[in-house]
Amino acid sequence: MTNVDQLAVPLKQSIELPVRNLTDAADRATASNVPHFLESLSATGREVLKELLQDEYYPANALIFREGTPGDVLYIICSGRVAIIKDLESETPILLAHRGAGQVLGEMSLLESRPHSASVVAVEDVHLLRLTRADLQMLIVEQPGVGVEILRALSYILSTRLRAADEVRTSVVHAESRLARRVQQLATEKERLAELERLRQETTDLIVHDLRSPLTCIEASLQLLQEILPEEVRTSCATIIDLAMGSCREVIDLVDSLLEVTRIESSELALNLWPVSLLPLITDTLNRLSPLAEQYNITLELDAPAELPIIQGDGKKLERVLNNLLDNALKYTPDGGLITVTARPVNGRVEVRVSDTGPGIPPEHQERIFDRFTRVPGSEGRRRGLGLGLTFCRSVIEAHGGRIWVESEVGQGSTFAFTIPVEAPEHPGI
Ligand code: ADP
Repeated sequence: MTNVDQLAVPLKQSIELPVRNLTDAADRATASNVPHFLESLSATGREVLKELLQDEYYPANALIFREGTPGDVLYIICSGRVAIIKDLESETPILLAHRGAGQVLGEMSLLESRPHSASVVAVEDVHLLRLTRADLQMLIVEQPGVGVEILRALSYILSTRLRAADEVRTSVVHAESRLARRVQQLATEKERLAELERLRQETTDLIVHDLRSPLTCIEASLQLLQEILPEEVRTSCATIIDLAMGSCREVIDLVDSLLEVTRIESSELALNLWPVSLLPLITDTLNRLSPLAEQYNITLELDAPAELPIIQGDGKKLERVLNNLLDNALKYTPDGGLITVTARPVNGRVEVRVSDTGPGIPPEHQERIFDRFTRVPGSEGRRRGLGLGLTFCRSVIEAHGGRIWVESEVGQGSTFAFTIPVEAPEHPGI
């Protein structure tokens, strides 16, 4: 960094200097179009100014003037570089421009008698020449020729800046229209992708649908084969036939799940609404799953009042929701863990919560696990699932006018909660 003392060049010398001593490309770019103030004056004009200009030195980072303060001084940059900054003291200051040697500062507020519209900060050590409004006025009165020269030089600088600003504006307008065209292209592309996705979905649904009949046919044929084969052949082929039947059943289950979710998503599955108490559904599900829980030494707990408000619901589907949530909890809770089901009335709704002491679900997956075929990577659980259970739960709960969500922290377990309004939904159905 240049020593400030070294910059203390006597005024007359500095004015004689061809001050175009820019040091880096940024300064050159900034100054390339703007005329050099002192060089645009006649030799007489420069001579006269010499007597009036006063030196000022600022170290790097010093504030030269602040936005909003009165501007009654014209600065000519002799050397160094400054930054013009809007909203300097705000959280989001805006760097408007850099100015370097030969350029002027404060001319706008000097000419308009208005406060500075931006702050100016020294980027490096700066040597300025300063002309006060009083001196300029005096010059205009006493030496009108030089006064006019100065004003002409200033107006030339301003009109050059205006032209540069116009160019920037034009390129911004061009950039905006290019952007608008691109946005339009992307919107068209998005529509095309949505159409392709719809076609892909329809084709998948069709294939899945058409797979079911031949699969049930294979399963039935295998069963028949088991019955009609002679005893000795049946015994020797038992393993192969069992394997074939097991695999066939697996694929049929997969196809059924896919068909069910497709039906749910295409609103073809209607709800069968009856007055339902959730409590017996919960206890039945807990009783059914308790042998499995015992096998893993997992404790099942129920925390609910003796009675819950009756809701209008599809009991069978709600029972499957509870079964899916509890089955998941059992799948992911380690041996010796705890699963708690809580049920209570909350503001005209019944809220059910299934909490476990499993591994928890990372935040970035918590919303997505309700989408079909979405599984948390690396979460195998006790059995591998398809990633369709929670999709089914969300469809059923939302069809009841309710809401389902997960609260979870990795390492701290998960709580799957849903609410069902006590009043029946206006348009029940999925
Ligand atoms: P899946 O048949 O794979 O269990 P679900 O739709 O029921 O399908 O669940 C989607 C994914 O959400 C699971 O694969 C698992 O990654 C995660 N998940 C669901 N329940 C729990 C839980 N109680 N604890 C931890 N992860 C869970």
